[in-house]
Formats: sequence, C-alpha cells, structure tokens
Amino acid sequence: MADGRPQPDCLFCKIVAGEIPATVVRETETTVAFKDINPQAPVHDLVVPRAHYRNAVELAANAPELAAALLVEAAAVAEAEGVADGGYRVVFNTDAHAGQTVFHVHAHVLGGDFLSTFGS
Ligand code: AMP
Ligand code: ZN
Repeated sequence: MADGRPQPDCLFCKIVAGEIPATVVRETETTVAFKDINPQAPVHDLVVPRAHYRNAVELAANAPELAAALLVEAAAVAEAEGVADGGYRVVFNTDAHAGQTVFHVHAHVLGGDFLSTFGS
C-alpha cells in the first residue's frame, strides 16, 4: 500500500522539496506545477502532488481526494497559462509502453495550439 512518502531518488520529489530548480507556475498546499523542461506544445506544464505516488492509478487508489485535487489544479494551470478557453490536453503516461520516464505521478498540461493526434 503506497503511503505518499517522499522517495530518495525521485526527481519530482526533489523539485517539490526545492532541491532541484524548476520554473514553478503555481503551487497549492498539495500540488506543484512547473514548466516541462522539454516542451511538446507552446504550453507544456507538469502538475505533481507533493506526495509521492508512482502513477495516476496508484494515486487514485490510495488518495482519491488528492487525485481530484490534481485534476482541479490542472484546470487552474490551464487557466493561468491562458489556454483554458482554446482547449488543452491533460495526459498521464502510465508505465513503459506509454513512455513514462519519471515515476512520480504527473499530469502533463498541453495547449496553446492545435495538438497533434496521439495514440500510435
Ligand atoms: P513522462 O514521460 O510522462 O514520465 O514525463 C516526464 C516529463 O518530465 C518529460 O516530459 C520530461 O521532459 C520532463 N522532465 C524531466 N526532467 C525535468 C526537469 N528537471 N524539469 C522539468 N521537467 C522535466
Ligand atoms: Zn517522488
């Protein structure tokens, strides 16, 4: 059973703790949003819970209120970045075939232009 405690070798735990720099867009009591270092759209931010869960499924199963807060915050980030009206994409890559590389759950918030199709 995952308990949300910080993990010593986790990149996003280190960003949450301020040990690794990031361009922070918004912060709440339970989440941090920052710019993706390798943007795939004009706006590409990551929203993470301060607590460590490895993916969206583990987060939802263990901390459903935090999962909801993460989605609410993704919408607030889209609003703050000016892409809420045009529309945006929220993505949770989950494990290897989806290309997840950082195993601290994060919502990608992508927008600012028409986005390419995906799924292949
Ligand atoms: P994923 O492939 O879904 O695990 O996404 C991980 C994302 O983290 C990728 O889009 C990376 O560009 C991004 N990333 C990796 N290191 C950093 C960092 N130090 N600061 C901001 N974003 C990062
Ligand atoms: Zn972590």
